Amino acid sequence: MAPGPVQDLVHVLESHGIVCLRRDLIGTRKNALVATSGRRRAVVFIDPRPDREDASWAVAHELGHLVLHETAVTTQEEQSDEFAGEFLAPRAEVTKLIGSGVDAEDLPDRFSMPPPAFAVHARRNSLISQADYRALRKQSVPPWNRTTIPGPRRISDAVQERVNGGETIRDVAASAFLSEDELRRDYL
Ligand SMILES: [Zn+2]
Repeated sequence: MAPGPVQDLVHVLESHGIVCLRRDLIGTRKNALVATSGRRRAVVFIDPRPDREDASWAVAHELGHLVLHETAVTTQEEQSDEFAGEFLAPRAEVTKLIGSGVDAEDLPDRFSMPPPAFAVHARRNSLISQADYRALRKQSVPPWNRTTIPGPRRISDAVQERVNGGETIRDVAASAFLSEDELRRDYL
């Protein structure tokens, strides 16, 4: 991986062989979920709706389960949060930004992280003061800064290839058990 903040998390996962799929996860109270078949293939489901920060955090947390745990149990949640924090905002990178004069309140945005999750990670590693921790715990991503996570590319590429080969979007969608609208929304 390139040094510095993770620019396109989903693409990093895809380029390491993890299948990423957009899925409506409404009802699960989660923004991402991981599933494995044996120890070979991992599939990460990503809800298309949450903000980039919340989605990135959820995907990195699920990646933590994938790397650290064979099967998820509740006591492993904190470990996965620790993993996600270090994956998205490595201590050395945070220290570098603080050294260059970046204010604590601007740090979560640099790493596309939800401010409260960043606060816990940074405080756990003694990177910020208790006062900054308390302020960041209450901070949220400003509305004008809200974007969604860059989507999976592999499936979009495959869909595009089939469309270029003469198939209709409707046919491709039907073969994936999706509606045409879902295919367009999530993959094109
Ligand atoms: Zn978890």
